[in-house]
Amino acid sequence: MATGHLTISLDALVENWRSLDALSGSGTQTAAVIKANGYGLGAARVARALAKAGARTFFVAMAEEGAEVRGALGEGVTINIFGGHMRGDTDMINDLSLTPMINSINQLTRHLEALPDAPFGIQLDTGMNRLGLEAGEWAAVRDIALSQNPTLVMSHLACADEPDHPMNAFQCDNFLEMTAGVQAPLSLSATGGTLLGPKYHFDMTRPGIGLYGGMPFADAAPVVALSLPVVQVRDVVEGEAVGYGNSYIAPSNRRIATVSGGYADGLIRAMGPKALMYHEDTACPVVGRVSMDLITVDITDLRDTPATLDVLCAHQGVDDLAEAAGTIGYEILTSLGARYARRYAG
Ligand SMILES: *Cc1c(COP(=O)(O)O)cnc(C)c1O
Repeated sequence: MATGHLTISLDALVENWRSLDALSGSGTQTAAVIKANGYGLGAARVARALAKAGARTFFVAMAEEGAEVRGALGEGVTINIFGGHMRGDTDMINDLSLTPMINSINQLTRHLEALPDAPFGIQLDTGMNRLGLEAGEWAAVRDIALSQNPTLVMSHLACADEPDHPMNAFQCDNFLEMTAGVQAPLSLSATGGTLLGPKYHFDMTRPGIGLYGGMPFADAAPVVALSLPVVQVRDVVEGEAVGYGNSYIAPSNRRIATVSGGYADGLIRAMGPKALMYHEDTACPVVGRVSMDLITVDITDLRDTPATLDVLCAHQGVDDLAEAAGTIGYEILTSLGARYARRYAG
């Protein structure tokens, strides 16, 4: 059976990195977050395109991801690990020159004992309570840590996609307080914080989702397009059912296309009743349940039978699809299926 076609525009990706870079001053470096296989788009390809455009610092979640990126980029760029220095990571960190963002006193001890001369950063918890040293822990180890010249001191905002949320200023103030007198470069903001303005930029921004065309970067160029082959078309008579559980009963005579793609490809089941597929400018509603490999679509309004229907296109971006599924663009991107034929354009 034919697979869906996922087209990834590396030109749009680079354009988004440049647009986000242009939001901060020349004293602020714009890094690139390429964790989770470059938000599902292919970490190696994404990393190479952004490095060529001038990105010098990359962030991944764990050392194994860093190893892949180092393989793709070679020497000369910095690869930071949000998860820090975990037990078992020491050889990878050392051999591949990865830079862990140290999250706890435990990790700091591990790093300084195992690799006393290897670079590291510090991640502080300014209120999100997810990763990083809390204020008390930081106070206890600050002098030791700073004496080893960390390459970065960073934290992460919990509510940056809501510009008016008081948590933003609260965390920014905490960060300023915790980093007073620190000489190392500072970083607080991902995509959302980058959009909040200069106060949030510090020495480095760390956009992820905005690079890939997702909200909260409303001005992003779309990076992904996805179309699914039509496997079969049939006429359904008024009163007939379509798909599992008979959840759709044709209200009148309809023409139904079955396309190749389903929840096993990241087209999550919950999007079913609200999602649309497009043929050129015409929207065609998904009818019946999304199944593992197939989706049924009402194409009664189309004059011809198309070879494919578009899921991600000019009319429906990752955030529109996320909305239909009750989730966020991040989850749509990172769920994109391994079965799709991937084509990199630009
Ligand atoms: C994922 C992540 C980012 C990137 O966030 P986006 O919202 O995708 O821009 C930046 N910093 C940290 C600590 C992260 O976990």
